[in-house]
Amino acid sequence: MEATDPISAAAALKRGGLVIMPTETVYGLAADARNTQAVMAVFEAKGRPSFNPLIVHVTGIEAARQVAQVDVRAKVLAQRFWPGPLTLVLPLANPNAVSHWVVAGLDTVAVRAPAHPLSRALLEEFGGPVVAPSANRSGRPSPTTFAAAMEETGPSAAAALDGGPCEVGLESTVLALLDKPRLLRPGAITRSQIEAVIGPLAEAEADAKRSPGRMARHYAPELPVRLNVESPEPGEAYLAFGPARHDRLFQLSETRNLPEAAANLFAHLRAADRSGARGIAVAPIPTDGLGEAINDRLKRAAGFVG
Ligand code: AMP
Ligand code: MG
Repeated sequence: MEATDPISAAAALKRGGLVIMPTETVYGLAADARNTQAVMAVFEAKGRPSFNPLIVHVTGIEAARQVAQVDVRAKVLAQRFWPGPLTLVLPLANPNAVSHWVVAGLDTVAVRAPAHPLSRALLEEFGGPVVAPSANRSGRPSPTTFAAAMEETGPSAAAALDGGPCEVGLESTVLALLDKPRLLRPGAITRSQIEAVIGPLAEAEADAKRSPGRMARHYAPELPVRLNVESPEPGEAYLAFGPARHDRLFQLSETRNLPEAAANLFAHLRAADRSGARGIAVAPIPTDGLGEAINDRLKRAAGFVG
């Protein structure tokens, strides 16, 4: 399929079709959040379990109010970080705000306003809430290029927008604002950036059931993944962080730059997976700032998070 423009893509959404949509985080598979058949088609195309709710994408705070109850904390955070990679889990505005499939039967909804110009143009042209989970098949690494998105779920899409490689390369931060603010998924907006605006976050440990999508093995390549490896074995592909020499070398960031490593992570995991290696070894990545989100995705790729 040829890439198209936001006007034709919005028309496809209105007809109930699915659209490959670039965002600054990763490529999404978009559908009309109010159209149950379209939303079911997203679950089907991804092979996503129906208990894992979807993020609703909107143009901004005003549009968010159509689907969610935006309290003062949400308003302040949205003013600071939207459009951008922060998803807020809030009480649903009303039971019919979006298809019940979107929220997997919960009375809460995850919303965000993406920053990528093409996703913004699509949302504005469409004029309503849009679900857009990552365009990968469930459990596989998220696509951060147009080609990877097309390969994963392109055949299920009625239209596709080519926004080039994603700038951030990791999925959005998911923050629940139900009682105490809790980080459900670390992402590009860091814990400390959020705490600087609304104060300390509560621990999210016992909260797995609140973010039903946080499965252990997720973002996973086919090959086994080893973490915190300083010296890779011969035959392994190596995702390096800092200067390194190795046969199958995939450099996350030679200068040890975390944003650069985040942007390269999923594309390198995909390429390493296909390199003919017998496994994937990954260099230690610092855990501060954006490193929290990178290490979270790596642990899931290795199947370590319970
Ligand atoms: P994805 O769209 O694949 O990036 O995943 C969306 C993430 O947001 C998953 O981890 C979901 O479990 C989480 N999520 C979406 N809606 C809710 C909600 N209402 N409550 C808690 N987590 C949610
Ligand atoms: Mg995903």
